[in-house]
Amino acid sequence: MTEGKQLRSIRGTRDLLPGETETWDVVEGVVREIMALYQYREIRTPIFEETQLFARGIGEYTDIVKKEMYTFEDQGGRSLTLRPEGTAPVVRAYLEHKLAAQGTMEKLYYLGPMFRQEAPQKGRARQFHQFGAEVIGTDVPEADAEIILLFLAVLDALGLESWSLHIGSLGCQNCRPAYREELVAFVKGVEDLLCEDCRGRIETNPLRILDCKREGCRLATAKAPSQLDYLDEACREHFETVKRLLADRSVPFTVDPRMVRGLDYYERTTFEVLNPDLGAQDALCGGGRYDGLAEMIGGEERVPGVGFAAGLERILLALEAGGESLEFEPLCEVALVHVGDEARRHLFALCDVLRRAGVASTMDLTERSVKAQMREANRREALLALIVGDKELKEGTVTLKNLVDGEEETVPLEKVVPAVLNRLEALEEAAVEEEPEEWTGEDEGPDLDPGEAA
Ligand SMILES: [Zn+2]
Ligand SMILES: [Zn+2]
Repeated sequence: MTEGKQLRSIRGTRDLLPGETETWDVVEGVVREIMALYQYREIRTPIFEETQLFARGIGEYTDIVKKEMYTFEDQGGRSLTLRPEGTAPVVRAYLEHKLAAQGTMEKLYYLGPMFRQEAPQKGRARQFHQFGAEVIGTDVPEADAEIILLFLAVLDALGLESWSLHIGSLGCQNCRPAYREELVAFVKGVEDLLCEDCRGRIETNPLRILDCKREGCRLATAKAPSQLDYLDEACREHFETVKRLLADRSVPFTVDPRMVRGLDYYERTTFEVLNPDLGAQDALCGGGRYDGLAEMIGGEERVPGVGFAAGLERILLALEAGGESLEFEPLCEVALVHVGDEARRHLFALCDVLRRAGVASTMDLTERSVKAQMREANRREALLALIVGDKELKEGTVTLKNLVDGEEETVPLEKVVPAVLNRLEALEEAAVEEEPEEWTGEDEGPDLDPGEAA
């Protein structure tokens, strides 16, 4: 045995503790519910992939690929990377399993951890969690609009009302080169004012300069040409239709002429949904169209697609900032309380019987006093206490105490399960009558009536 310091979780990663995991479950449950309403089906891809998938898909000159990927060599000398995003793997799986052969279009969603080696700060971790959706196999603007409406429906179902939608268009392979040329000419004219990173981007990734957060670069590029002025006929019409479809659903949005996303695969529609309460890391969701991605990662033909990825941590922070209560305790229906070792052994079996009967039950597995056990039952907000001491052992009974009103009764052992079920049912009925509605994230479908989407 070697002695050493206590080991800790890696910087930028976090343990989700009991109390938080229940909240995550609720939010993930809402996501799954809305995905089902919109008829998206779940796909689960591996946590790691060939490095090439991301280098080619996201783009070799992007920050993600250049600086942020967790890339390692396995024992066989293959270069592998922990997935920094979900879209390239989903499109890879779509091509690999020929999902297109089963229908012309596939609507998929995913949910899980992603990995990027960024400087950790509030709302930005190195292992973070995203859910996302993709419509693969069609390039109609309705798909772009549906993806946006889908995400807004999730926010609506979660009760998150504070958001703003920003949309743009990056053009396509036909109209982007002309714009890129104009942009390069422009940034060369202000090269001296740009930061070192941006000067390096002029030849490799000039669009990304528009996205630089540094004050100097923002000022220098304030008058840079916009892709929106260089869209060809088809791209302009596509963009106009997406905007009209959103307006038809009364979804408010802002057109951002400088919208750039950090991934090279986007073309045409791009969008972000921001939350004003989050500070610097204010994007809840980003997405767009990626009609060229399938070919970039080795697909034989062009497969159009559009999707979004949303940050679970960000959404939870935004809900919290918006004053939503996010604390959930798991329900505890019965606390079994024993007096002495013999009673504990006796109750052990009964506890399992209750659980098998569908009753959430807890019992103390230490040798604590009755008082301590009752305190624990109250802390867990147990509804009933089932108490067994010498007297009950001798008589073959249990004492059933209603912890809501304090009433006690003696129940013969063989009638314990039906007695418990009866009491719980009565308590539940009473609770339904008087309890005000609480936020549970459940049973609230999306409500996007015209005029309510804001
Ligand atoms: Zn175009
Ligand atoms: Zn810069």
